[in-house]
Amino acid sequence: MSASSNQPDAIVIGAGVIGLVTAWRLQAQGLAVEVWTRDEPEQTTSAVAGAIWYPFLAEPRERVAAWSAFTFQRLRELAGDSDTGVHMQSVVEVFDHDEPDLWWASDVPGLVRLSNEELPVGYRAGVRVDVPVCEVPVHMPWLLRGLRQHGVRFVQREVSSLEQPLAAANIVVNCTGLGARELCRDNELQAVRGQVLRIKGSHMPHAWIDDTRDGPCYVIPRADGLVVGGTAQMGDERLTVDDGDSEAILERVTRAFPQLRGAQVLATRVGLRPYRSTVRLECEQRSDGRRLIHNYGHGGSGYTLAWGCAEDVALLLTS
Ligand SMILES: Cc1cc2nc3c(=O)[nH]c(=O)nc-3n(C[C@H](O)[C@H](O)[C@H](O)COP(=O)(O)OP(=O)(O)OC[C@H]3O[C@@H](n4cnc5c(N)ncnc54)[C@H](O)[C@@H]3O)c2cc1C
Repeated sequence: MSASSNQPDAIVIGAGVIGLVTAWRLQAQGLAVEVWTRDEPEQTTSAVAGAIWYPFLAEPRERVAAWSAFTFQRLRELAGDSDTGVHMQSVVEVFDHDEPDLWWASDVPGLVRLSNEELPVGYRAGVRVDVPVCEVPVHMPWLLRGLRQHGVRFVQREVSSLEQPLAAANIVVNCTGLGARELCRDNELQAVRGQVLRIKGSHMPHAWIDDTRDGPCYVIPRADGLVVGGTAQMGDERLTVDDGDSEAILERVTRAFPQLRGAQVLATRVGLRPYRSTVRLECEQRSDGRRLIHNYGHGGSGYTLAWGCAEDVALLLTS
């Protein structure tokens, strides 16, 4: 807390992955941090995610590449401790053309192209690489525990204006995801609806990403089952499960992995990705010295970018 009052040094608005990791980074540099959130962390979009390291639906590329490379390293370190719920996972991505644009891969160690013998029938190219996966039901509680142990206080509160937290701390970081649309009157933000199923799965040798079909097709092995998806419906704000989407997802997935046909569906969930033409990460310096930093609009890449973006938030505070 500031020496002069009970005020925290910084208030982070939002307890999705972006808010939690930002709070982590700020408390690590010695700031007294509060997190204000409308929803419990388990009710956020972040709780629905797969959550594999893979840049998807986030711009601009140069900044996304730098943020995701930083996050990759950080998550790889966390994967060394099983308590964190992060593990390294082999993933295969397949393409229907010979020269896929692997813009995100330049800083990713160990990426190999599949040989013609390894390539599944019907595809022209493929890559295999080990990437971090966050087991959300373990990772999110681990983040929350760590934050609380370091004195970060959580306040359940819906903010109707950013002036409210700015009246209570000199530094405010806006990590409200799609909520920023109303808070900042930011019409650039759009929901991209994602539906995923968790199915009972036998052992899979690798995760799978195929973006060449009539909808995204992925399989992410986790301790609590196989997360299979998905949808990416721009502007669709329905939070209800669509049975037609579930059927289409299972159809695409079982075309690639027939052994999964008839697998028990353990859960079906929907989340709205906070998509923007560019992630908004910038500082508004107020004339009274207060600073409002925006950190939202991470689209389909919140877990992939969180640590890199939090690092930039910390940098903005020192500049
Ligand atoms: C189906 C699906 C699969 C995905 N898979 C992956 C994946 O494999 N890898 C990956 O990297 N990403 C994935 N994503 C994307 C990822 O989930 C998002 O990018 C990420 O959750 C965004 O995090 P966030 O913290 O910005 O937003 P959120 O998780 O939505 O959190 C926003 C927070 O702000 C709070 N808030 C909002 N408005 C207010 C207000 N007015 N007052 C107070 N609090 C407020 C909310 O209560 C919440 O706590 C996936 C998303 C979906 C839907």
